[in-house]
This record gives sequence, C-alpha cells and structure tokens, in this order.
Amino acid sequence: MLTKVLSVFVRVTASLQLILTTKVSSSAPLNTQQNNNDLPANDMISRDKTIREIFRKPRSHWVGDGFNVFPLFSDKAFTEELSPFLMFDYAAPREFPPTSQHRGVGRHPHRGFETVTIAFQGEVEHADSEGNRDVIGPGDVQWMTAARGIVHEEFHSTNFAKKGGTFEMCQLWVNLPKDKKMTSPKYQAIVDKNIPKVGLLLVDQDLGKCSPATMDDGYARIIAGEFRGVKGPAETFTPINMWEVVFLKSSSKYQFELPEGHTILVFVRRGSIEVQGEKLRLADVARMNEGGEKLTIGVTEKDTSVLILSGEPINEPIAARGPFVMNTDDELMQANRDYSSGSNGF
Ligand code: MN
Repeated sequence: MLTKVLSVFVRVTASLQLILTTKVSSSAPLNTQQNNNDLPANDMISRDKTIREIFRKPRSHWVGDGFNVFPLFSDKAFTEELSPFLMFDYAAPREFPPTSQHRGVGRHPHRGFETVTIAFQGEVEHADSEGNRDVIGPGDVQWMTAARGIVHEEFHSTNFAKKGGTFEMCQLWVNLPKDKKMTSPKYQAIVDKNIPKVGLLLVDQDLGKCSPATMDDGYARIIAGEFRGVKGPAETFTPINMWEVVFLKSSSKYQFELPEGHTILVFVRRGSIEVQGEKLRLADVARMNEGGEKLTIGVTEKDTSVLILSGEPINEPIAARGPFVMNTDDELMQANRDYSSGSNGF
C-alpha cells in the first residue's frame, strides 16, 4: 500500500514538475544557438526510463553499390513494437575511391510512409518523381513523405564520387497513419544551418539535480520535435522527436526529458555510452520502456554522438513488403498494381 501511495506521489510530483517546466519553457527564447543557460534546469525527482531491450550492432549488407548499411532494428523492423518507426539503416564511415560511376540505388517506388535521410559525411544525391532534385551534405536532412506514391533515386553525389572520400549516412523509415497514407507526397530539405543546436543538461550527482551544461560539453541538434523549449524544423504527421546529440567530454552524465508512452530509441553513431549500467557502442540501439520521462546517458568516450528518437505509436496494423508499407495485404497488392500500371500516384 505504502509503495502504491509513494508511486502515486512520485507520479503527481513528476506531472507537476512537467507542468512547471512547460510553463517556464514557453517564455524561453526559441532557436537559441548559444549556451541556453537561461533555459530551465530540471531536477531529478521523477522516474528514469529503463531499458526494454538492446539491439546489438547487426551484420552489414549492401543497398545498391553505394550504401553498406547496418539494419539497426534487426528482426524488429516493420513490427508494431517500434511504431511509428519502421526501419533504420546506418551506413557507418567508409572510404570510397574516386570514380566516374554513379554509385547508389536507381529508380524504385515507395508508398505509405516517410524516408528520413541524414548525411553525416560525404554527399547524397536525391531525385524523385515529384521533380525534387537535391544534394545533401554533412549535417543536412531530407524528410521525404512518399504517401500515395513516389519513384525515388538515391546516389552518392557526382562531386563526391569524382573526389572520393569518407561516406556516412543513415536512413530511417517512419510510418504514416492510415488516413495519411494516400495523401500527396511531400519533401522537406532541412539544411544544417536551420537545425537549432541546444546545450545539454548535466547531471550533478552530488547535488542530486541537473544544471545547464556549456556548449563545450556538447549539444543536441533538434531535427524534429522539441528539446528544452527549442523546436526542430521538421514537420511530422505524428508526434516525433529526433535529436542528434554530440557529447564532447567523457565521464559525465546528461539527462533528457522524453514523453511517457512514446517508442524511444537511442542509437550510438560514434564513441560509447552507458545507459542504466549497460554499455552501448557503435551501431548499438537501446529501446527504452514507455514509462518514466527522464533518460540518463553516461558518456564513456570523448566526442561521442548518438541519435535519440521518440515517437508516439500509431497503433494500426502494419503490412509491409519491399518498398510499400500499408495496413493490409490487399493494399500492398494494390500498390504493386498501381506501380506496374503507373497509376494512383506513380
Ligand atoms: Mn528510397
């Protein structure tokens, strides 16, 4: 009984704190790119998110001749468990010699979801049947909504191919709710300079609370959603947070506030971290439990980088085959027919 009362008390305290934090945040300046010492600090009186499972670095495979990727969700890809996220390919840093060839993936269709591509090193060239043609470089993001249908091409950029060098990128597939699957395709080119950088919250174990860290400690780039009152530029169909976090110092702990009930994934892109006593290294992904609203990350190497993903589950059936993600098998067959006949969006 006492435990129950206590846990209710903690919940109430946590909710109250959330309300207070939200209120303070709304008066904080947006798009702050400095130290953010004026943003609210959170204390640690609330529940930490715990680890549900860890996907260890899988074997890599080639997508076309340009992208050697780790399929980070392994056998959980395209399951409702990770909703709204469907699939996540990471191309770790790899040297490519100069070439006059067009390395990548030629024309292929998509329907029913979004592809989100982040270029970390090198350049990705994109073309689609809506007439979008673009090259993204380090730090840039392409958020493409395939919706009812798009024909897509993805290559190393001509310039990068000619010079050669290190190539690194990732691509996340995000599901669309049923009522958005057959809407018009959309394309968001989000360049590095439009992605706000926000200072982190350092955990002070002696004081038992968090305080704003300086930009020398590291920062979060807010691609989508909101972190410490700063909003990211990506427009999403369902609530999603996508933060690329760089930790410049090791041996410190940082805290991140994330919604309860969301699917939460932490992917290590560089260096290593510790979450709840578990060590995570390159291409490992931790899936957190839905409860709690604080994620604490211990940094175990200098210049570590992680991607934190949080998304509200869509809670609709997933029927996925190749480049199409719908709700039923019939809709998948229809997608195949439409693509073969070049109709209904293709
Ligand atoms: Mn594609």
